[in-house]
Amino acid sequence: MCGIVAYTGSRSAVPILLDGLTALEYRGYDSAGLVTSTRMYKEVGNVAALRACLDADTSLRKKGKEKKEQDTAGIAHTRWATHGEPTKVNAHPHAGRDERVWLVHNGIIENYLELKQSLEAAGHSFRSDTDSEVLAHLIESHYTKKRAEKHTLAQAVTEALAQVRGTYGIAVFDRKQPSEIVVARMGSPLLIGVGAGEYVIASDASAVIRHTRDIVYLNDGEYAIVSPSNLAIYSLSHEKKTHTIDHIDWALEDVQKQGYEHFMLKEIMEGPEVLRASARGRIKASSGDVVLGGLAEHADALRGLSRLVIVACGTAYYAGCVGKRLIEELAGIPVEVEVASEFRHRRLLYDRNTAVLAVTQSGETADTLWSIREAKKQGLLTLGVVNTVGSTIARETDAGVYNHAGPEIGVASTKAFLSQIEVLAMIAVYLGRMRGLSEREGKALVAELLQMPDLVAEILTHKDAIKEVATHYADATNMLYIGRHMNAPVALEGALKLKEISYLHAEGYPAGEMKHGPIAMIEPSFPTLAIAPRDSVYDKMVSAIEEIRARKGPVIAVVTRGDTELAGRVDAIMEVPETHELLSPLLTVVPLQLFAYYVGVARGYNVDRPRNLAKSVTVE
Ligand code: GLU
Repeated sequence: MCGIVAYTGSRSAVPILLDGLTALEYRGYDSAGLVTSTRMYKEVGNVAALRACLDADTSLRKKGKEKKEQDTAGIAHTRWATHGEPTKVNAHPHAGRDERVWLVHNGIIENYLELKQSLEAAGHSFRSDTDSEVLAHLIESHYTKKRAEKHTLAQAVTEALAQVRGTYGIAVFDRKQPSEIVVARMGSPLLIGVGAGEYVIASDASAVIRHTRDIVYLNDGEYAIVSPSNLAIYSLSHEKKTHTIDHIDWALEDVQKQGYEHFMLKEIMEGPEVLRASARGRIKASSGDVVLGGLAEHADALRGLSRLVIVACGTAYYAGCVGKRLIEELAGIPVEVEVASEFRHRRLLYDRNTAVLAVTQSGETADTLWSIREAKKQGLLTLGVVNTVGSTIARETDAGVYNHAGPEIGVASTKAFLSQIEVLAMIAVYLGRMRGLSEREGKALVAELLQMPDLVAEILTHKDAIKEVATHYADATNMLYIGRHMNAPVALEGALKLKEISYLHAEGYPAGEMKHGPIAMIEPSFPTLAIAPRDSVYDKMVSAIEEIRARKGPVIAVVTRGDTELAGRVDAIMEVPETHELLSPLLTVVPLQLFAYYVGVARGYNVDRPRNLAKSVTVE
């Protein structure tokens, strides 16, 4: 959830740590901190606040004619608080009792209270309320206790971790021997960027790529000892591991704003390119087929599937709900979609011909990961639709399809959602074609998929009209989103986007459910956003809209371009081009994303960093 950056090499560590934190800030941002052998800073708020406090200190040092600081190793963190408020004392890094061992931690130490009590009984007192500080004390106590026996830091780390229950990604160092950093992971991502005579460690690659594109991914249950000249990886039970170096091919510009005011807008505007990238090389227009190399090895199992269970969280869950409809319609496979945090706790009653498909942008979502592990334990085939190459879920599933949407920085997912639906549509055609979907239908669908980037681009050219509508409704206090069939999940996603970005209370409902409850809320100050393109449920959507109008509720409708009839009956419209009904979510969601964006901006919020949220939810 949080961001970890660590550096060991020959360059000055502080600027590298700060730049790395800035790149990772979207993961968590309630406080930030760093430590090198001579300096330690913590600040509440974002990385800019930490940078300002460092700058102030540096100019003081200069005035005092102190020598320029040249620490060449350090560890740093942006926090997403789980234990203890976001205050300066609770900010990482945390130190042990003697302030010798320092640590940054991502995750949750579940038995921290137990450990804390036994350390307190041994004379330790704690500065913060965090679970992480307990781990720092525990490591240091192992380290210093056995110094006479030449106990290494890595030994102390593994001994301490053997006592810990929970999840962690940690970077630890001894402030007196800073060039050696020990990192370990269990349930929280960590990777090591390999440079020339230096290593940059981080929780995700965006903090590393400005230095190197050669990456070693640490697996759960592994630790690494990293010094400028060496990287050694072991299992927590001390077996030496050989590591492979992966090469990342996306560009630094992919994680920069490129002139847009916010990442969120940039990423919405990237929609057409994202769709092209996700489909590239995967569509055979001449035969109406989809080629998915990542699934080919399991083609026989997929042909015989009796059920598919999609597990996901948040926006990805709604993409899964669209996927369910696509796969059921086109491939005739019964599909269940379940929120991952629920899936993992229930008794799984599936036969061996069931596959479990994780949909996740980061590939690190803790609940989704545990669901996949649960499914594996049951001997089920596990699949992934994952955006982040090399992420844990991508590595742990049996097979899968990458989104190729590029890094998504805006916390509220937009382009990843679009590419998730596209990939699920391609999977639906792929499975359909092996299970009786005709060539003619296959051709019609893939031709439409190939057109999709242009159709999305067309919606984006009208973004100012959407801005106008959004600005008009930005002062609402509640909103209802409704849609039906393919667009029922889109309504839920639209409402989620508005909540995330503008803190405006919004509820998403399948339109048919409206009269079973939510219609009670309708009154003149309660707008409804109705998704009503011309499709097989259009008439039913029009009736729902009429029911709202009859109660004087304002209606904004997403309509097919040229639908003057509906346009004349509602208060505002946002238009989308015509497309195949099953693919319409790829279009209807775009105005909803823009709407949420412009409402958030009009209400004066930082839409890239909504309060209380973090990009990659690696805690449960
Ligand atoms: N549990 C730790 C804390 O609350 C780490 C949180 C994080 O992953 O940022 O400080």
